[in-house]
Amino acid sequence: MSSFIKDPYKFTISEKDFIKVNFSNHLDWDKPIFNTIKTNIRDYLRPKQANKCCYCKRELGYDIKDVDIEHIIPKSEYSNFSFEPKNLALSCPACNTKKGEKKILNKKIVRYPTHSKNCTIVHAHYDNYNENILIHNGCVFEALSSKGSNTITVCELFRLKVVEQKAKVKISTKNKNSQLVNLIMSADQEELKNAMVELMKRIK
Ligand SMILES: [Zn+2]
Repeated sequence: MSSFIKDPYKFTISEKDFIKVNFSNHLDWDKPIFNTIKTNIRDYLRPKQANKCCYCKRELGYDIKDVDIEHIIPKSEYSNFSFEPKNLALSCPACNTKKGEKKILNKKIVRYPTHSKNCTIVHAHYDNYNENILIHNGCVFEALSSKGSNTITVCELFRLKVVEQKAKVKISTKNKNSQLVNLIMSADQEELKNAMVELMKRIK
């Protein structure tokens, strides 16, 4: 199954005009006047990406802070690509933050590329994710290519294994604690004493 974005966002004529008048460099990106356009981009890309982060493939949240419009080629380096449709993809804020302003092109360019030959990471509009990265158990990333390997490094995807492990520990502690509560609630005196000893051990 192919897994890249087939149709990039298409700006309307009025959106293009608005950008032309109000955008001069990448620092303008965060201005609230672009919020409506950004909402349109997010709403458009969500189903195109099956609501998944373009780098870690985890489910994207629906609150504004749970999803970022990611600039594949950093806008800090190429300001003129800030509103380039093929440079925009949705990512989770963590991947976006980790990727930051790291360079992902192996040569200087003038026009936006029409292929991903010079892109060192998986490009959401050109590269098939599954041919470059294999995900095991939703959190272990195996590189199938150098692009895959670079994507894992640039976005620090290895962080997710630790995230997953911590989540599991939290759940198992919660389960153990609720088992203990059930035991105490239904215990006779001897069992109650043992449960209290166990509880004391845990809170030490
Ligand atoms: Zn992500």
